[in-house]
Amino acid sequence: MKIYISADMEGVAGIVHPDQRQIGNPEYTWARRLMAEEVNAAVRGALKAGAEEILVNDSHGNMRNLIPEHLHPEAQLITGNVKPWAMMEGIDGSFAAAFFIGYHARRGAKRGVLEHTYSERRIYELRLNGVPAGEIAINAALAGHYGVPVVLVSGDEEAVREAKAFLGQVVGVKVKGGISRLSARSLHPEKAQGLINEEESHA
Ligand SMILES: [Zn+2]
Repeated sequence: MKIYISADMEGVAGIVHPDQRQIGNPEYTWARRLMAEEVNAAVRGALKAGAEEILVNDSHGNMRNLIPEHLHPEAQLITGNVKPWAMMEGIDGSFAAAFFIGYHARRGAKRGVLEHTYSERRIYELRLNGVPAGEIAINAALAGHYGVPVVLVSGDEEAVREAKAFLGQVVGVKVKGGISRLSARSLHPEKAQGLINEEESHA
């Protein structure tokens, strides 16, 4: 069984501000570490569930947030940009399922922590078949094109709500609840990672 993981950053527990995802900012150093730990929790869960091959695609910003040696040794990493399928680079019909880790709500979602759709500056609203869609919907649609179901989405409450509204049957792991775009009540990273690991192994 092969598992595909698309990893974003804004939906990781504890992250609430653009500074924290900004290279060069001291807070970025721990934020990228937390991102890697949530991905690793998902990798361990996938292995427990019987995955033999796991591909992780770094999907945030310049797509070089995950430091290769911080990643679980059983996972392969797609790092860097530009990539034709961007947040879904590497997806194809050989995967049994996809996980979205550290995901956030679409641009305009109320109380969506750091909500946006691909580009914060350039995209105000994007619709799929007339319905406002964010990265979860667009990326899941691409996975669906290859017949790969998205079985788990982790992120803030709004991201999980959006995933359930669009995908129906999907396991949602809420790691924080937005108070505003730039504030949230968050689980401790270890709790968040534990939940991701646990849910992943049954997803
Ligand atoms: Zn994103």
